[in-house]
Amino acid sequence: MDKRDYYEVLGISKGASAAEIKKAYRKVAMKYHPDRNPDDKAAEDKFKEAAEAYEVLSDEQKKARYDRFGHAGMRGAGGFSGGNVNVEDIFENFGDIFGDIFGQGSRRRRGGGGRRGSNLRVKVKLTLQEIAEGVQKKIKVRKHIQCNTCDGSGAKNSNAVRACETCGGHGRVRQVSNTFLGQMQTTVTCPTCQGNGQVITQKCTSCAGEGRMYGEETISIDIPPGVVSGVQLSMTGKGNMGERNAPAGDLLISIEEIAHEHLKRKDNDVVFTLYISFVDAALGSNTIEIPTIKGKAKIKIPPGTQSGKIFRLKGKGLPSLNAYGKGDQLVEVNVWTPKNVSPSERATLEGLRNAANFEPAPGKNERGFFEKMRDYFS
Ligand SMILES: [Zn+2]
Ligand SMILES: [Zn+2]
Repeated sequence: MDKRDYYEVLGISKGASAAEIKKAYRKVAMKYHPDRNPDDKAAEDKFKEAAEAYEVLSDEQKKARYDRFGHAGMRGAGGFSGGNVNVEDIFENFGDIFGDIFGQGSRRRRGGGGRRGSNLRVKVKLTLQEIAEGVQKKIKVRKHIQCNTCDGSGAKNSNAVRACETCGGHGRVRQVSNTFLGQMQTTVTCPTCQGNGQVITQKCTSCAGEGRMYGEETISIDIPPGVVSGVQLSMTGKGNMGERNAPAGDLLISIEEIAHEHLKRKDNDVVFTLYISFVDAALGSNTIEIPTIKGKAKIKIPPGTQSGKIFRLKGKGLPSLNAYGKGDQLVEVNVWTPKNVSPSERATLEGLRNAANFEPAPGKNERGFFEKMRDYFS
């Protein structure tokens, strides 16, 4: 299914302010709120769609990325944009937005009796080649994981819990609230057991009742091709485990590019500075090798090549994160002037000093280096 434009989903223009985005989201979310549209799948989808749009547009970094790359830029970004949205997640994250209208009733909890886990940040360094092809990275992280003694329950054993008396074990209690939309009856998370339905009478000794402990986990991260230094990807639920089986936080992955030995990145192009001898410049050569992202390649230098000439190798650059097209490799030629010459070389060169063909005669086609760079990069 084609994704709708996030701005269109919220009915706002691209220039909308943060306050306008929030207001627009509230409006759409209220309209399709599951409490007002029970068992209405279409409304639920609209509700999720709006939450996804808001998740991106309310986050400065994600918004900038979306503005630049569109939906393709959000691929692999996890979060709601990762696809597995559920209504509980939306309340978990944006419950506050409904707070003053739907009261606490909007803040549903997804299992677990404790606080949600915090986000975890990692940095992943990538070579140009990995960026060119995309890569799966396995990283080891130290973080809060579920307590393996109590399976996250926080209780010493199965007898160390009893049903919560406040809610009779349901985890939710009814509440009537007055709003400007009239009186609304909602069910809210039980304040005694925080939605667990159970109360712990004896805590697990391994985790002191928290239901989580420190441990190591190896996580595989799929990095899409064409990422840029500074881009942040996120994986939902791969951060720190929550207390007593409450949802885990997210894993936030910052991309950092490892500088290539010979190639410089310029957006999706790569630039290589090549030195050739002035014999090769004058007579041309078919045997000069240059580095590319994917290893060595030969380049043909035509006779009469001037210093500053830029050759463009089509498609030898980096793919766009936006899925279509590839950058080029630019080879900037410099003619190498020998620093020391032997007596016989000197004799040869002296013989050429007054040769008419060696007299500089730049024509219209010999523009300066900066003019050429401007042409290539504008
Ligand atoms: Zn435990
Ligand atoms: Zn309760």
